[in-house]
Amino acid sequence: MKIAFLGAAQTVTGSCFVIQTDKARFAVDCGMFQGNSAFEERNFDTAAHRPEELDFILLTHAHIDHSGLLPRMVKQGFKGSIYCTAPTADLAAIMLEDSAHIQEMEQEWKNKHKTRRGEEIDPAEEALYSIDDAIATAKLMRPVDFNKELEPAEGVKVTFRYAGHILGAAILDITVTEGGKATRVVFSGDLGRPGALLLPDAETPASPDWLFVESTYGDRDHKGEADTLNELVEAIDYSFSRGEKVIIPAFAVERTQEILYSLYLLKQQGRLPDKMPIYVDSPLATKATKIFLKYSSILHTPELSSVAVHDPDAGVIFTQDAQDSMKLNAMQGPAIILSASGMCNAGRIRHHLKHNLWREGVSIVFVGYQAIGTPGRKLVDGAKSLRLFGEDVKVAARIFTIGGFSAHAGQSQLLEWIGAMARPGLNIGLIHGEPKAQQILAGLIKERFGITPFIPEYLEEAVIEGSGAPVVETPAPARSRRRVDWNFLAGELEQRVSQIRSRLAEADSLPWEEQAELRDRLAEIERELFVFLSQL
Ligand SMILES: [Zn+2]
Ligand SMILES: [Zn+2]
Repeated sequence: MKIAFLGAAQTVTGSCFVIQTDKARFAVDCGMFQGNSAFEERNFDTAAHRPEELDFILLTHAHIDHSGLLPRMVKQGFKGSIYCTAPTADLAAIMLEDSAHIQEMEQEWKNKHKTRRGEEIDPAEEALYSIDDAIATAKLMRPVDFNKELEPAEGVKVTFRYAGHILGAAILDITVTEGGKATRVVFSGDLGRPGALLLPDAETPASPDWLFVESTYGDRDHKGEADTLNELVEAIDYSFSRGEKVIIPAFAVERTQEILYSLYLLKQQGRLPDKMPIYVDSPLATKATKIFLKYSSILHTPELSSVAVHDPDAGVIFTQDAQDSMKLNAMQGPAIILSASGMCNAGRIRHHLKHNLWREGVSIVFVGYQAIGTPGRKLVDGAKSLRLFGEDVKVAARIFTIGGFSAHAGQSQLLEWIGAMARPGLNIGLIHGEPKAQQILAGLIKERFGITPFIPEYLEEAVIEGSGAPVVETPAPARSRRRVDWNFLAGELEQRVSQIRSRLAEADSLPWEEQAELRDRLAEIERELFVFLSQL
């Protein structure tokens, strides 16, 4: 079979692998690229996917970086079935509709901007996909039971196994038979952290021919996993004693429910201040919480988790509309606010940051992975200010990063999971990780198990068969490794500065009002440069 690596190849987002066998063509995940604009451009380029030629799609779990391009595929002609577990189907339906809403809003915003600048709107320039596309996508989903073999096409058998990570998440155990010869490939999907609060641990399949494993935390373990609740208490106490808020950017699915459950535990232990109301300010999180209750039999603390999200004594308030949300901005006094998105690149959390980031005594508590280029990552990396809604907001709040909530296995946990399958002849491919994390994990795998992992590049295509080595048929094109011409850009900038210098001499003779206006604009440019420098 041939695998095309169309995402999550030396990066953590855009998970998508298109597999061509002698009888079928299908995809494992169809995720959205997230982060900066260079990554996001890839979302529009589906030439390599050929959606109308895909027979079916297997979806590991509902996260947008695995499911977010499904409506794009449907918009561009995909008509097959999307196989996933029942909770994934329910979660993906609400998440894709939410994502479509964001896409539509972004397009509307771009158009408004163009109109204001007097530019023409290109009718061909559409949102990545619409809410209708998302609804059509949900209709193609076919729920599959865990641990029950499915044969979606001749010569392809697949079993969905528990991956932990988030509700419904699965490891895909695929056997492809071509010309009488079977090749078993396991895709880890995103692997959960053992001992997670709500979900059972990931299963370990029997050793396959090929193991494609995620490597998000390939370079590190989660720090202070045991101290998770204590760290949360520290953040809450810090802000409560200063009469300020605790802002928790949290993914609407899994993390929000996990935090609610943690707060419930703290309440039980008498470690939560009485006058500290808890708000869930994310329509998506509210909907997701209902789905968690529907599938509480999968959670390994079914009764308790139901109590945690239902118990009115726990003082959890789910905001209803945008007005409720805005009231929180004006509200004085301590409170805990959980809002999405978890990486602060969209959603109501951005408003909460704008109103609180500059306030001393506020805590911003990060409880999940922050991808490169996202506002969340900038804050975790110690940014002194953050650009929000066209304004630079100073960071005076205290930033907490709590690793123990991660939905991903840390380095040692990944190695342990891989170790249970390691044997001579096993092939390992590393996906879903940033290059540094992958290099470090690859080194450790080589050292411990004597296996040199294959690290595919974006758009690369490789043929694998049985336990043989991969044959790279189509190397990644140069565009997957584009480089920015920094020297050219810096040279241009230097030229502009010298032009400014020579012309400013003449500006001395202008009327004072005009000089003042030019001075303000130059000061603004200088400030922009300062902010840019702080990001380098
Ligand atoms: Zn995930
Ligand atoms: Zn992922």
